[in-house]
Amino acid sequence: MLAALVDESGAIRERGEQDIVDHDPDVVTGLIEKAVDEVRSKHVEIASIGLGSPGNIDPATGVVEYSPNFNWRNVPLGQKLHERLGVPVLIGNDARCATLGEYTFGTGAGTQDFVLLTLGTGIGGGIVAGGTLILGQSAGAGEIGHHQIRATDGFICGCGKTGCFEAQASGTGLIRHALALAHSFPRSTLVSGKPEKLGSKSIRRAAEAGDPHGLAAWTRYIDDLARGIANVIAFVNPQMIALGGGVASAGTFMLDALGPKVDEYTTMVPRGKTKIVTATLGNDAGAIGAATMARRGGLTAKA
Ligand SMILES: [Zn+2]
Repeated sequence: MLAALVDESGAIRERGEQDIVDHDPDVVTGLIEKAVDEVRSKHVEIASIGLGSPGNIDPATGVVEYSPNFNWRNVPLGQKLHERLGVPVLIGNDARCATLGEYTFGTGAGTQDFVLLTLGTGIGGGIVAGGTLILGQSAGAGEIGHHQIRATDGFICGCGKTGCFEAQASGTGLIRHALALAHSFPRSTLVSGKPEKLGSKSIRRAAEAGDPHGLAAWTRYIDDLARGIANVIAFVNPQMIALGGGVASAGTFMLDALGPKVDEYTTMVPRGKTKIVTATLGNDAGAIGAATMARRGGLTAKA
């Protein structure tokens, strides 16, 4: 958990971190309080607190309706925190908060139609269309990671479906591609160690160095990533798609391979119009977006 004191320009003034090991709501609430106390400056009054949390959250009530990561159902986190911290607390989905942060203060600033995709353990996302952060009727819009791109021959997703974008094109997806191809490269040293030590970064580096196994995994990965991105383009035709998360640190090595593939899978929407870039705020996007939500009194892209 990252706690950050964020000023009006979106800059982080103080930061503190807490490890969440126990998922009991009261224990987590206590940890959040501790993290907030850590960054609370002696000289600055905190006006409000914004919290980005995984799962389905009702931003109007601050109730975490469902969080598979924490195994929570209907936890009134906003109310609990308000009682303990004494200032208004707003809660939103972490990926939507990151989208708001990147749109307002990061690479999305100045655009009107913007999509953030965070390629980490899973794929988090969010959509801004016509200057509006799209939440949907029950704050569930933007779950881009769970649209299926390989419904018959894909990997099993954490959500239970087969071939979700997240299962194929997250950092975990890259590892799965490498493991799935291992039998074709018996002399490869990429997975010769313990499989749990295999990381997305080592596969990408192997691909960059021209290792055949790494390159084969990377090629499949880019293909799946491009399919999902082309779908996003077909859904919302954005001006810009920003890629964040660990895998996106590959930068131009990724973007150069991705562009032509995205064009190939973009059929009805005019090709080459959507800028695909790497996100600039990194892991801070969520905290900056959550603070922006708190200052605005809601999860909204309107200043
Ligand atoms: Zn899924």
